[in-house]
Amino acid sequence: MTVTDLPTVHECSAEGCSYNHDTACHAGAVTISGGGAACGTFIDIGTSGGLSKSVAMVGACHRTDCSHNSGLECSADSITVGPGADAADCLTYATA
Ligand code: SF4
Repeated sequence: MTVTDLPTVHECSAEGCSYNHDTACHAGAVTISGGGAACGTFIDIGTSGGLSKSVAMVGACHRTDCSHNSGLECSADSITVGPGADAADCLTYATA
């Protein structure tokens, strides 16, 4: 897998994130954290951020128990992020 093969954030319904515009993530890339599969890129500081025309990639994922995780990278075609245990969780997380 190369950087250009990384999965995209298909949709994000997290509310209040500075990178979220119309349920699309405009960060260049996100990191999904370990533990609760929370999006580690989520930030709520009331400032609009991110790139104007982009679809965020999943740059890294620390959730090694997910069936899509391979070598701390995500092998899914794309992921969906939204409210879960945290304000923004990877909803594509799956156990084998
Ligand atoms: S689908 Fe699994 S491997 Fe991919 S980002 Fe979500 S938790 Fe990580």
